[in-house]
Amino acid sequence: MTHPLRIAVLGSTGSIGRQTLDVAASHPERVRVVALAAHSNVPLLAQQARTHHVTQIALADASRAGSLAGLVPEATIYSGDDAAAELAALTDAEVVVNALVGAAGLRSTVTCLDAGKRLALANKESLVTGGTLVMSRVRFAGQIIPVDSEHSAIFQCLSGEPHSAVRRIWLTASGGPFRGRCRDDLADVTAEEALRHPRWTMGPKITVDSATLMNKGLEAIEAHHLFDVPLGRIKIVIHPQSCVHSMVEYVDGTVKAHLGPTDMRIPIQYALSHPERWTAPVEPVDFATLGHLDFEEPDMDAFPCLALALEAGRIGGTMPAVMNAANEVVVAAFLSGSARFCDIPRVVEAVMEAHDPFEPSSLSDIEAVDHAARELARHAL
Ligand code: NDP
Ligand code: MG
Repeated sequence: MTHPLRIAVLGSTGSIGRQTLDVAASHPERVRVVALAAHSNVPLLAQQARTHHVTQIALADASRAGSLAGLVPEATIYSGDDAAAELAALTDAEVVVNALVGAAGLRSTVTCLDAGKRLALANKESLVTGGTLVMSRVRFAGQIIPVDSEHSAIFQCLSGEPHSAVRRIWLTASGGPFRGRCRDDLADVTAEEALRHPRWTMGPKITVDSATLMNKGLEAIEAHHLFDVPLGRIKIVIHPQSCVHSMVEYVDGTVKAHLGPTDMRIPIQYALSHPERWTAPVEPVDFATLGHLDFEEPDMDAFPCLALALEAGRIGGTMPAVMNAANEVVVAAFLSGSARFCDIPRVVEAVMEAHDPFEPSSLSDIEAVDHAARELARHAL
């Protein structure tokens, strides 16, 4: 590479965002951070801007733009709900890392693709809510490189293989903190318990999604769009050790699996280094002491969110966006202590039942159903 890769990090103050900056810092000769975006964490954002000498910054919470400007006077600051998306299009970054959380990331995904930039995509909700529309905006092969660990694994297992030879995708799931528990047992688990994920340390929303298994439903829809494989050929399997990050099964019976340490810096870095590989400061897997790898069927009765997400994916059109919006509202309520764990599937199901799905023809269509579904979810709570 002749010059460092210029990257923009959207959601830089979050779990993926911070790890992306760690990766950038460990490869200063290869990566240069030129733009940052976050929602409201001004102190951390300002510190990141100073550390990485970034002068293009977006802040969703416009009321705090003044204090950010005071801390980084040399920076150009975009503020408001559309600031991250504006930055995704305007920045001179070659790669945009979209690590925003929730449907709020959809607009940035679309503007990045429309601007012809490469997208390192962590924000799975972009593909859940706007999958068909997003994929229709892809301008060149490899424009979207997945960051989600399972999808990074699948992307690598598919490398060099004909699409027609794929029989099934095996999407692995750790099972989350409540694996093995039954539905009644889970009605009143607390946010604190749900946030104790056995394998990964992540932002609060995805950690709750992992506890309900909603995350795996979102990921199945994400994989369906990214890899153009029907949902019916995406198999979800519980694998508690999270060593196999996912697998691709081919028509001749061959299965390619991607294994490695559970460290998000690996898929984040690969989304930047692809097609190269760079060294990473991670603890390697020692197969000699690993013991055994287990696989089992997911329990759809104990974890109804998984079935609801897959159902939304099968229905298609606007239904996944509606399912996702309802989930975002009720998960936020659960995290703030105003909803029970068992309210999550109840509200998602009620909002889905009330929706008449259609094929969205624009971003505004998706945003409109998203808003309406949030209103309904608040009522259902
Ligand atoms: P976090 O909650 O840790 O971080 C979210 C980031 O997005 C923060 O920087 C936050 O800013 C910012 N943000 C939130 N809403 C807005 C908005 N409206 N406009 C601008 N910025 C906003 O989330 P994670 O890092 O855990 O997850 C990010 C995405 O990556 C999710 O889609 C998740 O599913 C996916 N993912 C995450 C994994 C993980 O290990 N964490 C693994 C695989 C996928 P602020 O801090 O100021 O609020
Ligand atoms: Mg994942």
